[in-house]
Amino acid sequence: MSRSLLTLCAALALLLAACETEVLPPAEKVHRAEIAHTPDPKVVVFVIDGPRYSDSFGDSLHAHVDGMWNTLRPQGTLCSNFKNLGTTLTVSGHAALLTGVWQTLNNEGLEHPTNPTLFEYYRKATGAPIEDAVLVGGKPKLNACVYSLDPAYGAAFAGLADTGHATDYATYDRLIQRLSTDHPHLVMASFSQVDQKAHTGVWGDYIDQMEIVDSLAVLTWNYLQSDPEYANQTTMFITADHGRHDDAHGGFQNHGDACPGCQRVIFLALGPEIRAGFEIVTQYTQRDVCTTVGNLLGFSTPRSSGLLMDDIFEPATTGVR
Ligand SMILES: [Zn+2]
Ligand SMILES: [Zn+2]
Repeated sequence: MSRSLLTLCAALALLLAACETEVLPPAEKVHRAEIAHTPDPKVVVFVIDGPRYSDSFGDSLHAHVDGMWNTLRPQGTLCSNFKNLGTTLTVSGHAALLTGVWQTLNNEGLEHPTNPTLFEYYRKATGAPIEDAVLVGGKPKLNACVYSLDPAYGAAFAGLADTGHATDYATYDRLIQRLSTDHPHLVMASFSQVDQKAHTGVWGDYIDQMEIVDSLAVLTWNYLQSDPEYANQTTMFITADHGRHDDAHGGFQNHGDACPGCQRVIFLALGPEIRAGFEIVTQYTQRDVCTTVGNLLGFSTPRSSGLLMDDIFEPATTGVR
């Protein structure tokens, strides 16, 4: 082989190597700016009130969360190091998810958050009517979480509070009614009975209720896939307001301190932009839900201290954006 041919081959090899470099898959860390957004995104935050991590996603058999673990988890991203690092009570936990700020609030619902909620950010940014931003739930005290005291936001931009449903079945029925009637873009659904049963101290009742809500989570996801307004454009987060005491700090009956059992919270993300069958161990917290939901729906959440949970998202494949 002549010297010049060798040189040419070497040059071609270099060129090919350069081309290959350019088509390498995206870096592990995905940035939202690179992600192809769905055209009409919607978000459902499915909150289970007070399941202990070790009795649910952290149970090695996953015996009481069969639907979420075996049906939903393979379709989404599991965050296995997700925490409530604020006050591990119901109102404060829901408010942290909605405001992106840790704030200890009266747990009877007598106090509104200081910082704006997702409902207010969304309605102020888009002009959407109140029916488009809904909180469906069991506990009436959650009404405190639909708007804040922030003078630039507040009651004029509140979410619609549809609470006081006596059972998780009733909450589910109302949720589906709201979804199928008004097709809201921003929904928080809060299922109260796991917590209520646990507080009675009857282990079997608590576990039975966990299994019921597990089924309701699957039914909710299946509903979203069956409704053309939601299918392939809806992100669902399954999470909780708090855990419960680990056995070294009083056991499953109660919660409210900073023990590992109270702080550890389940988190599963599902949706067209979410990685399927993926698990991340990055520590995220409830505050990050506010920032991430804002990003998904295309509005900013300037008072949130949360992070964007960028590693739950699929890398862009379509070249859009
Ligand atoms: Zn709670
Ligand atoms: Zn505790």
